[in-house]
Amino acid sequence: MSSQKRVTRREFVKDFAVVTGGAAVGVGLSKEALAEVQVIKEIPKCGVVVHDPNLCRGTKICEVACSAYHDGACSSYLSRIHVEANDLDLVFSGLVCSQCDSPSCYFACPKKDQALCIDKETGARYINQDECGGCGKCAEACPLPEAPIWFKTVNGKEVAFKCDLCRGRMGGPMCVELCPRKALRFEERRD
Ligand code: SF4
Ligand code: SF4
Repeated sequence: MSSQKRVTRREFVKDFAVVTGGAAVGVGLSKEALAEVQVIKEIPKCGVVVHDPNLCRGTKICEVACSAYHDGACSSYLSRIHVEANDLDLVFSGLVCSQCDSPSCYFACPKKDQALCIDKETGARYINQDECGGCGKCAEACPLPEAPIWFKTVNGKEVAFKCDLCRGRMGGPMCVELCPRKALRFEERRD
């Protein structure tokens, strides 16, 4: 049996866009694929919250900060970042959206630019809960081993939620600001 990984059309387009920087000329791609390459090229990059397991002590203040800022409640369940301990409680790993340069969740969303959107100013990939239908295609498409996208019920409707980099907040990401160990940092990722 061949060990070669099957490459989907989307993966091919994504890799192709990275390799060529979007200069897709004369290689026989379909019109649709060429359009997708162009879209990837035009999506603004943005910053990302990075978790440092060497500094984290698992206080979960980030989870409280995030849920308080977005939902007015101190609740790990509502947080858009999660910190989990390993079996011995010695090392903590953080799970938060990677704000991918080529965001699979954005392309997978049936309501792209309405439910899964890209902030024109900051580039943050965010979910507009008013439009989200809770179908879960964004979480399915996420390339991370565990998708940092969660679901909750709002006004009787299932909606997805994920890190939006505290979009619009003066002072930037709340979790970064309040982490007492400086185990979270905001990294710019601009062209
Ligand atoms: S759950 Fe919401 S944001 Fe995610 S793909 Fe479905 S409609 Fe889009
Ligand atoms: S940047 Fe904002 S939305 Fe993202 S995890 Fe931190 S507090 Fe939550």
